[in-house]
Amino acid sequence: MDKYFCKECLGLWHKEKFMLCCPGCVAHRDAGWTPETLLSVYGPMFKVSDRAYFPSLSRIYPPPSRTKPQHIKPQTYTWLKSSNFLSEFKQQQTEFLTKYETNDNPDFWYALDPIVHQYNKKLNF
Ligand SMILES: [Zn+2]
Repeated sequence: MDKYFCKECLGLWHKEKFMLCCPGCVAHRDAGWTPETLLSVYGPMFKVSDRAYFPSLSRIYPPPSRTKPQHIKPQTYTWLKSSNFLSEFKQQQTEFLTKYETNDNPDFWYALDPIVHQYNKKLNF
């Protein structure tokens, strides 16, 4: 089963619809997501990738909010790696973290999932 959203999912969210043959869209919808909230959380990932992987099929709604770009702490990589999120999600988020650190391009920062932003932010305290 696909553990990611594709550009067809994205196109339908823009039309305020879900892709009904897509397990990710259906499971998120059943957990309380709308096309609009899917767009705001997963939309930015499509700016740098053709796929947007989700951390779990039936992801709890609402997610936390994104933060402004921050310095990435090494512990964020460790936390992500040892988390229970789907492995493809962990892989893609790790790639975004690395690319953000290498290129300093805000598109990679905003492609990071809000849960990654919030974890990294917590480390400031
Ligand atoms: Zn979908």
